[in-house]
Amino acid sequence: MSTIFSKIIAGEIPADVVYEDEHCLAFKDINAIAPMHILLIPKKELVNLSDAKELDKELLGHMMLKTKEIADSQGFEDYRVVTNNGAGAQQSVFHLHFHIIGGRSLNWPPG
Ligand code: 5GP
Repeated sequence: MSTIFSKIIAGEIPADVVYEDEHCLAFKDINAIAPMHILLIPKKELVNLSDAKELDKELLGHMMLKTKEIADSQGFEDYRVVTNNGAGAQQSVFHLHFHIIGGRSLNWPPG
């Protein structure tokens, strides 16, 4: 089922895009919780990590390797990558996304 992120991929609603290639798109979170808060999403409609299959491993690896490039482009060396997998883990948009967060001190463990 399509979400608001599909509309962002299609250019139907605006987003502050910081990176795009044929496989994925990265844009600033509308409700940033840190100086850098980017959402990295696959263009393929995957609900979350649990929805990913063996055939998606190249896509997932590609996205993980892009996080450094995206953080670098924003001027941040240290960053956290988080994905909320399922409603019980606070996933609110059901299109896979990796939060790339940085620019302030981050606590561990997360809440
Ligand atoms: P989740 O809670 O599913 O892990 O994260 C969803 C994220 O998407 C939230 O941080 C929320 O602020 C962000 N978000 C929701 N709708 C939009 C939107 O239309 N544009 C942008 N840029 N971010 C959105």
